[in-house]
Amino acid sequence: MSAIRLDGNRVAESIYEELAARVAARVAAGRPRPHLAAVLVGADPASLNYVRMKRRNAERVGIESSDHRLPETASTEEVVALVSGLNADEGVSGLLVQMPLPGQVDAEAVVEALSPVKDVDGLHPFNAGRLSLGVPLVKPCTPAGILLLLGHYQVPLEGRRAVVVGRSNIVGKPVSLLLLQANATVTICHSRTADLRAVCREADVLVSAVGKTFYIGPDWVKPGAAVVDVGVNRLDGKVVGDVHPDVVEIAGWLTPNPGGVGPMTRALLVRNTYDAEVRRRG
Ligand code: NDP
Repeated sequence: MSAIRLDGNRVAESIYEELAARVAARVAAGRPRPHLAAVLVGADPASLNYVRMKRRNAERVGIESSDHRLPETASTEEVVALVSGLNADEGVSGLLVQMPLPGQVDAEAVVEALSPVKDVDGLHPFNAGRLSLGVPLVKPCTPAGILLLLGHYQVPLEGRRAVVVGRSNIVGKPVSLLLLQANATVTICHSRTADLRAVCREADVLVSAVGKTFYIGPDWVKPGAAVVDVGVNRLDGKVVGDVHPDVVEIAGWLTPNPGGVGPMTRALLVRNTYDAEVRRRG
């Protein structure tokens, strides 16, 4: 039996369609068009490409976007000043700072300078704190996208055993908190977890956010489990995940990679921008 494919491209497409209709209705009613501002420090080609893609995704649903660049040599104070100006700009609904920042910039200070209501990546300590209290405001895009995808395919979560491999602030920790909020019983694993394979094999829902090619083998997966492959790795010039292709024969549900979590993450950024506008200006 082959796993049911958790098709992120398809679900993301329906999110874009719904958002396009909602933006069009708002604008037709005379409300301002939502606006996503992207801050980019330096000219790293991958970061430039990510920002371009994020702006294009926003624009396809009718959300305006703008680019705010600083040179590679910018100081923390300069980045914080740019962020503060965008916080104060009434026309900006959502604000993202493309990571990673150059080494001399204090990334924590920059994230803390974001207005929590405009923080569309959900990284500000206020948003992280709300999430850990079980009253999320802005949810980080990848974790929120994963929960939406699981929900769309009606993967049972309540009372199930969820295992998350990875404990980063951007994926592992917040997806664990969202699974907990969905009443799963959650175990968070990391590089020091003992007998990781045995822990993974207990999972009804297994999320891998490690970043190691084909790390999760078929003998790590409980038959029938839902497996979410967040990893983005390169193999022979192609993007591959953390989950070995043979897992498709063992799992009950599986995200393709690419085409699973990635498109959901991108769509959620656009949705967070729309929601930020509505939250701030009604
Ligand atoms: P980080 O590098 O911040 O975190 C990786 C986590 O994996 C850490 O908690 C680390 O443990 C854990 N880990 C590392 N090696 C092992 C191991 N051998 N066994 C068990 N755990 C291990 O990465 P991110 O969370 O930012 O991203 C994870 C992956 O997901 C990356 O490939 C990234 O590119 C991808 N990603 C994909 C997105 C998408 O939209 N598809 C979005 C964001 C990320 P420890 O804490 O102990 O070091």
